[in-house]
Order: sequence, then C-alpha cells, then structure tokens
Amino acid sequence: MASDDAVRATNDDAAQCKRFAVEKGYWQDPFITLLTQRSQNKHAPEISRGYYARVMAMRTLLQKFIKMTDGNCQVVNLGAGFDTTYWLFKSNGIKAKSFVEMDFPTVTSKKCFFIRKGEALLNAIASDEEDIQISKSEIHGQDYHLVSANLRDIKEVERKLHDCHLDKSLPTVFIAECVLVYIDSDKTKVLLNWITENFTSALFLNYEQVNMQDKFGEVMIENLKQRDCSLPGVSACASLQAQKIRFTDTGWEAADGMEMTNIYKSLPHADVHRVEKLEFMDERELLDQLFSHYCIVWAWKDPNNIGLGSIDL
Ligand code: SAM
Repeated sequence: MASDDAVRATNDDAAQCKRFAVEKGYWQDPFITLLTQRSQNKHAPEISRGYYARVMAMRTLLQKFIKMTDGNCQVVNLGAGFDTTYWLFKSNGIKAKSFVEMDFPTVTSKKCFFIRKGEALLNAIASDEEDIQISKSEIHGQDYHLVSANLRDIKEVERKLHDCHLDKSLPTVFIAECVLVYIDSDKTKVLLNWITENFTSALFLNYEQVNMQDKFGEVMIENLKQRDCSLPGVSACASLQAQKIRFTDTGWEAADGMEMTNIYKSLPHADVHRVEKLEFMDERELLDQLFSHYCIVWAWKDPNNIGLGSIDL
C-alpha cells in the first residue's frame, strides 16, 4: 500500500511541474505561483507538454459542463491538491454555485496557509472577512469550500460534503486528476457508487494512467514505487475499456474516454503549434509513449436529459 506521505507528496510534484510549465509559457496561470515554490529541478519538455495537454483537456470538459448548466451546478474536485481552476475560472467570469476541493488534511492545511497569505486567492473567495469561515485545514466561503477527508473513508467524505451544503439535485461534476490510481479499486468503487446513489445528475472527469501492461508502463510503475508509491488502482485500469467499465459497473449511465495521444491531436491546432515552438524536443517518441499511458474518461448520469452525454472533447 502506498504510504500516504508519498501520495501527498505527489501533489507537490504536480504543482511544481505546473508552475514550471506556466513559467515556460505553456499556459497562463497567475495563481499557481501563490501556491507553490519554483521547482529546483529543470523538467523535460515532454513533461511540460504532457501537463499542458492534461490541463487544457480537463478545463475544456469542465467549462463545457458549467456552460451547459448555465452555472447552476456544483464542482467537487477530489484530491484537488493545489489546483487553481476555481480562481482561474472565476477571474474569467466562469462560475458554479459551489466549488468544493477535497484532499488529505496535510494538503488542505498547506493550501489554507497559502490562501490566507495570497491576497488574490483570499479576495476571490470573500471580499469581506465575515463571508468566510477559515480554520487550520478548511475553508467555507460563499461559493468555495476546501475540506479535508480521506477519500477511502466514504462516511468522512459524506460528512464533509454535507458541511458544504451541496444540493444533491443540482447537476454536479466530480473531478479526479491523477488521484484514483492511489486508492484501492474496492474503495474507488464505493466512492463512485456513492456518488450515483446520492446525486441526481452527475458527471465525472477522471484523468489517470492507462495501458500500463507494456514495458514503458512497467518503467512508470517502477518509478513511482521507487518514490514509495505503490499503485493500488493500476490493475483496475489496464485498458481504456476497463477504465470505462469501472463507471458503468458503479451506477453511471455511460462513459466515454480517450487516450492522451488522441486528446493531444484534438486540442486547438494554433495553440498546439505555439506550444510546440516553446522548447526543443529531441525525442518525440518519448512524448508519444507518455501520452499513450494516460487517458481521460468521463462518465455521466443524466435522468433529466440535460445533455451531459453530449459533453466531449
Ligand atoms: N489533482 C491535483 C492535480 O492534478 O494537480 C493533485 C494531483 S496529486 C498527483 C494526487 C492528489 O490526490 C494529492 O493531493 C493527494 O493528497 C490526493 N489524494 C490521494 N489519495 C487520497 C485520499 N485517499 N484522500 C484524499 N486525497 C487523496
């Protein structure tokens, strides 16, 4: 079983890689510098391009959902780490009724600390101190909630979401970006099932490893193990089809998905062209291999036919 400290440290990694890519010009994010320090390491261009594709695609799907519901919706980011989407979207006028971020208490308390310190982060949540409740590891604002919970403990997840006063009849999108892979497949099933049993209309966006059975996949798993992160969920997500079945087996109406190789091809060409000129890459093959080992799967439950099934890339 992965040590939880090692799992939590994957957030520092992700945040630093994102900051590094932002500073190279892959995409704009004035908030990431308020949440993480500059990385001491130089990251390979393949890593930054991988993050670029992941961030662009996840945000495109999320934006489509918020637009489709006209903002009458809720966003729950599971294992959110130092994600900045709430601030980026809000500063661009893209708002949901509630935006919840959930992670281990060690991660949320660090995020709380940075939010208190970073005026731009705090001001977006509340212009007036009375509009916000802030503790060591949790924040409750008008439209933003940061809560600590272990996603393996469904009772705790339920309790913490209850504290955020979510409306279970409102369309709700759940996001897991590189998170479910750290959770046992049985516990993931409980979580996915709980969502479909409790929320009327829901969308799930899941970014995760896929096709890990080949040589390159083995090397990736080995790398994570060396950092003390065994990957309990990997066996459950061997293929794209297996990733989709995980959802249809837990009460989701249907699921769709794409490997990152195809997602990268679907991104706006002009922007991809701009990004490809940022850094010289001598081994394109490495990027292709990396992309073939990650995917985004999205699943929906839409009894009121609001169109969740039509969301795609
Ligand atoms: N989603 C963020 C992103 O893409 O930038 C962070 C990704 S990081 C690789 C994985 C995150 O999932 C970490 O912040 C970790 O603490 C969180 N996580 C993993 N297992 C968890 C669990 N059982 N309960 C709560 N958070 C968990």
